[in-house]
Amino acid sequence: MGSDHTHRRWSHLRKVLERSGPFCRPDFEPSPDTLQFLMENCKILVIGAGGLGCELLKNLALMGFRKIDVIDMDTIELSNLNRQFLFRHKDLGSSKAEVAAKFINNRIPACNVTPHCCMIQDKDDTFYRQFHIIVCGLDSIVARRWINGMLISLLTYNDDELDQSSVIPMVDGGTEGFKGNVRVILPGITACIECTLDLYPPQVTYPLCTIANTPRLPEHCIEYVKVIQWPKENPFECPIDGDDPQHINWIYEKSIERATQFGIRGLTYRLVQGVVKNIIPAVASTNATIAATCATEVFKLATSCSASLNNYMVLSNVDGIYTYTYEAEKKHDCLACSQISRELEIRDGNIKLKELIELLCERHDLQMKNPGITANVEGKNKTLYMQTVASIEEKTRINLSKTLMDLGLADGMEINVADITTPNTMTLKLKFKNTDVEMGV
Ligand SMILES: [Zn+2]
Repeated sequence: MGSDHTHRRWSHLRKVLERSGPFCRPDFEPSPDTLQFLMENCKILVIGAGGLGCELLKNLALMGFRKIDVIDMDTIELSNLNRQFLFRHKDLGSSKAEVAAKFINNRIPACNVTPHCCMIQDKDDTFYRQFHIIVCGLDSIVARRWINGMLISLLTYNDDELDQSSVIPMVDGGTEGFKGNVRVILPGITACIECTLDLYPPQVTYPLCTIANTPRLPEHCIEYVKVIQWPKENPFECPIDGDDPQHINWIYEKSIERATQFGIRGLTYRLVQGVVKNIIPAVASTNATIAATCATEVFKLATSCSASLNNYMVLSNVDGIYTYTYEAEKKHDCLACSQISRELEIRDGNIKLKELIELLCERHDLQMKNPGITANVEGKNKTLYMQTVASIEEKTRINLSKTLMDLGLADGMEINVADITTPNTMTLKLKFKNTDVEMGV
């Protein structure tokens, strides 16, 4: 294994990989070949080159991984520099993936990080299939759900038996302020993102009536200016840009006026920024802890030198340090990873297509964003509604106010749903709770 220098450089890894120990997995065989596999063959994809991504890339490269790809569509902003330590002032405006890859490649000899400056949705199954392990440092639930769906679509089955070689493990890290979590997902084997979807609370929104009539919190006043006053007065003749100080200032002043009117205290410029951009401050130490855990899990998966995290770790640094690990359970009828077709219970055929779409978006176990619906009606495949393509949206908009019965849908029929939260079309079987209506009773 190369020069004496290289030998010494990895001496700590060799202690773990060339000796046995009580925590090794049963299939682990101590050997110098493992380090060689890690360096020469093991391909890792890092999704996200932000707060977690920078840490992940640094950790993985220093742990011996050399074939790393990183994907991120964002460019570097000034506010990133306090924690996204692979970026410098001169890099503002450049691609995060490209700058991060270049930094690591220059700093760590023989490491080869390949950047991809695009959305994860721009890559197809052949791209994702080439990796041994995928590790995510994302701040978007939609993106997590999409990559989860992609990895599940890569699974192959022989007579209902999962082909283990088609499983690409996914290590997922997430942080929010002083809190974080890490999970290890073996698609098709352990709980996937969709199995535990109800863990993600829907984004905080305030009832419009409260905002408009009975504001109690400074947030209510800011929301009022944001959703009601801005569109009405349109001060800059454009949508709100949370990074434009003039816009924030306008919202701040109007919010103060409203807060004063209702005797509400505690409204600050910072709070306005937070509410408008919907942000929770990123904390560098939380990112570092979560990324370190993720990188360790990747190392364990790649080498079998220790059993994996099973399978969901939470970390809270809010009040001291607290961490806890539990096993999230696979949902037997998970829409993404079970082989069971899913029923969608609705009142009856009298509900409108619009209401069906609302249901798909609101249900905690579905949380879709812009579902498009097709169905096979009387032997023909019909698009009932599709929001994502303007011309089709226009043609199908009329269906929104029609009832399911009008559209030819009956109890027990299937609808196909496409959504940005998944690369795959999902099939849902309609189940009417009240079948009498349909029979005309
Ligand atoms: Zn699942």
